Amino acid sequence: MRKIPMDKPIIEIDGDEMARVMWGWVKEKLILPYVDLKVEYYDLHVKVRDETNDNITISSAEAIKRWGVGVKCATITPDAERVKEYNLKKAWRSPNATIREILDGTLFRAPIILKNIIPAVRFWRKPIVVARHAYGDIYSGVGLKFDEPGEAELVYRSVSGREVRIKLPKLESSGILQAYHNLDSSIRSFARASFSYALNNNLDVWFAAKDTISKVYDARFKEIFQEVYESEFREEFEKRGLKYEYYLIDDAYARAVRSDGGFVWATKNFDGDVISDLVASAFSGSIALMTSELYSPQGYYLAEAAHGTVRRHYYRWLKGEKTSTNPTGVIFAWSRGLRERGRRDGNMQLVSYAEALEEAVKHTIEEDRIMTQDIARVAEPPVNAIVTTEEFIESVKRNLEKIIEKKRLIS
Ligand code: NAP
Ligand code: MG
Repeated sequence: MRKIPMDKPIIEIDGDEMARVMWGWVKEKLILPYVDLKVEYYDLHVKVRDETNDNITISSAEAIKRWGVGVKCATITPDAERVKEYNLKKAWRSPNATIREILDGTLFRAPIILKNIIPAVRFWRKPIVVARHAYGDIYSGVGLKFDEPGEAELVYRSVSGREVRIKLPKLESSGILQAYHNLDSSIRSFARASFSYALNNNLDVWFAAKDTISKVYDARFKEIFQEVYESEFREEFEKRGLKYEYYLIDDAYARAVRSDGGFVWATKNFDGDVISDLVASAFSGSIALMTSELYSPQGYYLAEAAHGTVRRHYYRWLKGEKTSTNPTGVIFAWSRGLRERGRRDGNMQLVSYAEALEEAVKHTIEEDRIMTQDIARVAEPPVNAIVTTEEFIESVKRNLEKIIEKKRLIS
């Protein structure tokens, strides 16, 4: 069998623990036999980041700027415990935060909807796509611990030498403080990305924050969203019968639960972090059934799974146990990345292959009713087999080959 050719490379960013193990299996079993894969490979294993003083992370993001399209495996964000576990020089920053910042992208997380997995919220019929602003706020904030009463102020010094100072409330005992920022330009591209994605997918847009309390910070987000909507999107939205709504964040939570879905929920960085996990588990009971795509206004694209490195499963795998970790998120990271590469290069064969790969996963779960333990728990009966990761991948492979043959994707 000949393989599907590729023109330009995709940036492959490898990661850690169980996610890395699955990454390798998916590549070996589901991609390499069918695609003449061209990659520029960056290994973000936590030890490699440590050895390169995290420069590898920056290089991987720069590579995406060069070639446009990347796929990323989940990586450890080290904390004190991990520093000990892996004997690291320090607790390096979250690689995701570094990459998102360099690309100034917006993350879109959408549930993978399967007909035998009914959402926990029974009104949800259409997807809720969480658009997470991937720049600033607490992810690039600074924190400070103080050990006695005192005072603190924030000083802004402009390039032209102007100074603005603002005092915090009196510090009456020992405690903690934090400061963070955002940029108009980044918020504007976040708003644009959210509205464009919604137009492309025929969805409404919600934006929610807490401007009643955060009268400067959140209020600025709200203002910029309104400006971008009015000046660039209102006309097209109205023509299509789509809506943009601003809600207070607590109101938005309550409304989301009563809604039937079908909207892009644009969220600030932290809200998106939390809401995307909540929406994933409420849609499907497993964070593995969620796609995660980053789009930047300059056209950079990165696909990943929404889950982390699945640490507990990894420790079991290290002991030689077979685990039933769900590789669906990892498979979809590859399919989305290859589809994007194919679209940009006008390589329709690659696009069709990527779609076939997703269809093969769906067929395995919906028709064969073969699944990993995380979704077998929540699926509508019958469940024909609860399998290990490798067995699941084998089933997907069988379905993929049938689809490839039926559609004559590879001659
Ligand atoms: P996690 O890896 O997402 O796993 C949390 C739990 O969710 C797992 O223990 C497992 O539950 C379940 N789960 C997640 N993915 C699954 C899958 N594919 N199949 C089946 N079950 C799955 O989060 P974590 O354990 O909190 O974090 C581990 C590491 O990942 C941390 O070092 C963190 O820094 C990193 N992380 C990286 C990213 C990223 O790179 N994008 C994102 C989040 C976290 P059970 O154990 O109950 O089966
Ligand atoms: Mg999260």
